[in-house]
Amino acid sequence: MAVIRQLPDRLVNQIAAGEVIENPAAAVKELVENSIDAGATRIAVHLTQSGKSRLVIEDNGIGMDAHSLELCLMRHATSKLQDDDLLAIYSLGFRGEALPSIASVSRITIHSRARGANDGWSIECHAGDIVGVKPSSQKEGTRIEVRDLFYATPARLKFLKSDRAELMQVKDIINRLAMAYPEIEFIVTHDDKKILQYHACDALDRIAAIMGREFKSSSMPVMANAEGIEFSGFASLPTFHKGNAKSQYLFVNKRPVRDRLLMGVLKGAYADVLAGANYPLVALFINLPQDHVDVNVHPTKAEVRFKNPQTIRNLMFHGIQSAIREHGRESASLLPQQESRFVGYGGGRGGSFPRRPVSSSTAPSVNYTFPESAFQPHSRVAEQPVYPSANNGQNTCTDIAEDQPSYPLGSALAQFHENYILAQTHDGIVLVDQHAAHERLVYERMKEALREKGIKRQILLVPEVVTLSIDTADLLTEQKDLLQEAGMVIERFGEDAIIVREIPAILADRMNIKDMVNALADEVEDIGTVAGLGEKINHLLATISCHGSVRSGRRLNAGEMNALLRQMEDTPLSGQCNHGRPTMIRLSLDDIERLFKRQ
Ligand code: ADP
Ligand code: MG
Repeated sequence: MAVIRQLPDRLVNQIAAGEVIENPAAAVKELVENSIDAGATRIAVHLTQSGKSRLVIEDNGIGMDAHSLELCLMRHATSKLQDDDLLAIYSLGFRGEALPSIASVSRITIHSRARGANDGWSIECHAGDIVGVKPSSQKEGTRIEVRDLFYATPARLKFLKSDRAELMQVKDIINRLAMAYPEIEFIVTHDDKKILQYHACDALDRIAAIMGREFKSSSMPVMANAEGIEFSGFASLPTFHKGNAKSQYLFVNKRPVRDRLLMGVLKGAYADVLAGANYPLVALFINLPQDHVDVNVHPTKAEVRFKNPQTIRNLMFHGIQSAIREHGRESASLLPQQESRFVGYGGGRGGSFPRRPVSSSTAPSVNYTFPESAFQPHSRVAEQPVYPSANNGQNTCTDIAEDQPSYPLGSALAQFHENYILAQTHDGIVLVDQHAAHERLVYERMKEALREKGIKRQILLVPEVVTLSIDTADLLTEQKDLLQEAGMVIERFGEDAIIVREIPAILADRMNIKDMVNALADEVEDIGTVAGLGEKINHLLATISCHGSVRSGRRLNAGEMNALLRQMEDTPLSGQCNHGRPTMIRLSLDDIERLFKRQ
């Protein structure tokens, strides 16, 4: 017969460490969260060999007395769950698990002095064996030193990545926490070199310090409220994006999360303006009453469970969409904003010009906004350009430039390389990519028509039966009405299948029904609803509009060019093509003078 025995504490802690303390970054996360919970206003992290051989966290928080020092290394000992209520968690920690877990796999020393106390104390612990409490000269606050992480569980050591990769993860953790707590100063050193420093500042400055200063001028505020839930933050203009999701910072009650539901909503909200593998940069905060969210569902609390996921989903989707619509005629900034100064890693990058924002996949462009007043055609273009354009006057239209009132996108001066339009505005110039611009115009018009006339359905001669799991068939059947609105008529077919009777006419010859149903099913499972069909239709419209657009290489006369400019002014989201590339670049005279170093 097998003998059952109670496992010794040390082993239990090591098992917990296996789950919660995956790498140095995870240890840093737990310790920095403790410092935040302790009310620190300054937190310093010192790493040696990316934290593998030594990591030190110093804070000026409330500290601990000698008795607390002993308790804090005990399993499930915490000061944070005073009411025994798991739905009323106001701190980042609550399980009382981190310190004993870290202590069971490393050599840890904690020095601490409680706020207002005369004496400091220290405690040491080696692989779970407490060495004892001693007096310490520690100033108010706490200093925790962890040496030789995982020396007691060498198997884990083997799974660690290179120093560089581990360091990146530590930086990422600090960035995520720093973004939620801009009022706290953070400093990180690695092998005695300072690698991050964030001074206490306001939320947007902290976000810019972490994302890069271009973010400030290339993002839009996002805000929405409903049912006691507050959604706010900043999201990049569609033209300012990255090839990966690393700059997507999401928070629930100031807790950094990587939640699939939220990531899915974000993707959906940008789908119309950012095609393919492009990701917006965002710092978005959801604040809601504690009892509307369960944070106790993931060992490192990276995921949460919402009481009303659908409300959150709608709030977030509409919040982002209305910001995109409101700023849809802008494209990201190219020239660094002079006023935005901040201290941050990389903050001292040389200010040479031109610099591409974020990634090489992002085409350069310059601020483009419509001030409301600019819509009134009041003033006239001040002066006719002195020099007629080259090209033997073939493409010039200086003759009409003087007759064009001062529209936001100005009047066309010339076309060059058979795809670009140069226009003069009242305070600078605009360059337009005629193909990209036209593509967006056609796309918006097609969507408009679809909205007005509804989605035409086509009845399938042979209805298609798609077999799914019973659960998935249930989920999809629940979305029947929504699917019908998007042009797809389905019915339940036995226990584990659905039958598709009608599909959107526009997709008729272009979609594999089984694939589509499976993709929709995945989506319902992932984010609880089907945005996918509408997205697919939009994607198709985008593709069609791409092919039906003015190709580069077509000569346009002055009238055609100006007509294109006027249509862009009237079209929502005209600042980017369907792939998130800017359709225009605007340079003000100020910008031009800066380029020529006259300022
Ligand atoms: P939890 O954070 O879930 O309570 P931990 O094991 O991380 O569990 O910490 C245990 C306890 O130790 C905390 O509840 C807190 O009272 C105390 N503690 C840990 N770190 C600090 C710190 N930096 N300053 C003051 N108290 C701390
Ligand atoms: Mg903790």
